[in-house]
Amino acid sequence: VEHTLLLIKPDAVRRGLVGEILSRVERKGLRIRALELRTIDDDLARRHYAEHAAKPFFADLVAFITSGPLVAAVIEGPRAVETLRTLMGSTDPVAAPPGTIRGDFGLLVTENLVHGSDSVTSAAREIALFFPHFAAD
Ligand code: ATP
Ligand code: MG
Repeated sequence: VEHTLLLIKPDAVRRGLVGEILSRVERKGLRIRALELRTIDDDLARRHYAEHAAKPFFADLVAFITSGPLVAAVIEGPRAVETLRTLMGSTDPVAAPPGTIRGDFGLLVTENLVHGSDSVTSAAREIALFFPHFAAD
């Protein structure tokens, strides 16, 4: 069984979409193994998005992800990493088909509602950042 990190980003929390998004994840059959509402600081945001540190949008990305409370969750299931990415839809909401979270609720590439780890390796790194005491049992 796999684990992945889901972030329900501050735009989705502001819009009252937490229940909708968690509900889609649960209805798919994935399991919530850890769950927390928190506002992350600059340091955690920079470490989480370290792979994008040299990109022109990095400062905006860090400002956005720290702009208010987000929901972080550890999601478990068979092929959880890929399954969650499929539920989310592509980064650019214009390309995300209806039926996906970004396709149904998103308009912008910046405020795109959710994050899901992009590989099993990223998932392990990101889960350790957000839930340092998480044990996969
Ligand atoms: P995330 O990592 O947040 O789950 P993702 O894996 O779909 O999203 P990445 O390529 O990892 O996409 O980009 C991380 C985040 O950086 C995106 O979610 C988006 O908010 C922002 N981003 C990516 N590309 C751009 C861009 N061209 N302009 C502005 N922001 C961007
Ligand atoms: Mg990513």
